[in-house]
Amino acid sequence: MAKSSRRFVGFQRTRFRRAPTPALAGPAASIGVRGIEISQCIQDLANSVTLVADKATIARLYLDAATVAKAGNVTAELAWSHEGGAEAYLPAMNTVRLDPAKDGGVQNQRTDLSQSLNFRLPPQAIGAGQLQLRLSRVYTPAGSDLPVGAPDTCTVSFTAAPPLRIRVIGLRYKIGTKTVAPDAVHFNYLRSYLGRAYPVAALEWSQVVVDADFASPFDDSTVDLANAQIAALRSREVSNGVDPRTHYFGLVSDNGGDHFMRGKAFAIPSSAQPDTVASGPCGTPGPGGFAGDHDLSYADWYGAHELGHTFGRYHPGFPKDAQDASDTSFPYADGFISTPDGRFVGLDTGDQALPAPMQALPGNVYHDVMTYADNQWLSAYTYQAILTRLIAEDALVPAVA
Ligand SMILES: [Zn+2]
Repeated sequence: MAKSSRRFVGFQRTRFRRAPTPALAGPAASIGVRGIEISQCIQDLANSVTLVADKATIARLYLDAATVAKAGNVTAELAWSHEGGAEAYLPAMNTVRLDPAKDGGVQNQRTDLSQSLNFRLPPQAIGAGQLQLRLSRVYTPAGSDLPVGAPDTCTVSFTAAPPLRIRVIGLRYKIGTKTVAPDAVHFNYLRSYLGRAYPVAALEWSQVVVDADFASPFDDSTVDLANAQIAALRSREVSNGVDPRTHYFGLVSDNGGDHFMRGKAFAIPSSAQPDTVASGPCGTPGPGGFAGDHDLSYADWYGAHELGHTFGRYHPGFPKDAQDASDTSFPYADGFISTPDGRFVGLDTGDQALPAPMQALPGNVYHDVMTYADNQWLSAYTYQAILTRLIAEDALVPAVA
């Protein structure tokens, strides 16, 4: 157990150097703060990626282990104020162990959720407008407060964004007398992933299963038949009152792996065109995993890729021998979600219902969702581009009073 704040006495950082402090005596030196990162999907230390209002948001605090004399556990509390309102207080979800002998630097902290103090911001803090955060307390689990260095404040803005309007059509087909349709888990994984990874606070989601116009065996034209059927269904439903900004996506079970239908978008529109449909496969990744995926469904990132096409996203061209490079502007080497210096780190805020854990996604391990590479997430580039397109699509239909 930590006995007192004295175990954290350490050398002061140059910015705050005052009179020399006798080691292990006198007032404790300040704990250095390396940064406060506000993340929803992908972010850098300058918080330069747009924050979407009302989307699940984690503040991550990186304390400087080099400013403590001895290893010990600490936690913290933030004070937050939205649009200049009164301050409210928020404790961290966890504690961290600061050990000057094992200080891997801020990049190690950013890529490992257990090395940052994490705060799940409450709904009142993440509405459209400005949020000011102040590091109000750093303390040991036993309760002793420790002096805090700078920078101990952080100001960010949240921007209102349209919802993702999506209707997912499960296509039920026959193999002989057997009927095959997507299990509920695949709809659930796709819905959850889009909510976590896409630049939206909410999904206007609906789903249904209908009989497919195609049957087993599959060939290269199967996905074209699927898209034609989805487009016809969409046309009818939009005529009957469905919001014309709704994206339609066809989901086709792989029947345990022997009926894999390669996904395809009908087109890659260069401007807002939500009537562009796409279809993709669903199934369980299997014992070997599929593109780094070992959970119950690959429908999530696979569907997010095909839908990405319908939002105008092209292929970055990675892996080099496996994918065309139709997106000549993709900014990161090898299809990663960050520059090689690790500027961007992904954050999956998780989903207890699936369940999917909250986790940090290192920018040099995870690849952009528009690649064919393993471990897929949205880069800041793709995230911002989809947000821009969503806003353009939202404007297609004037709001009805
Ligand atoms: Zn593609």
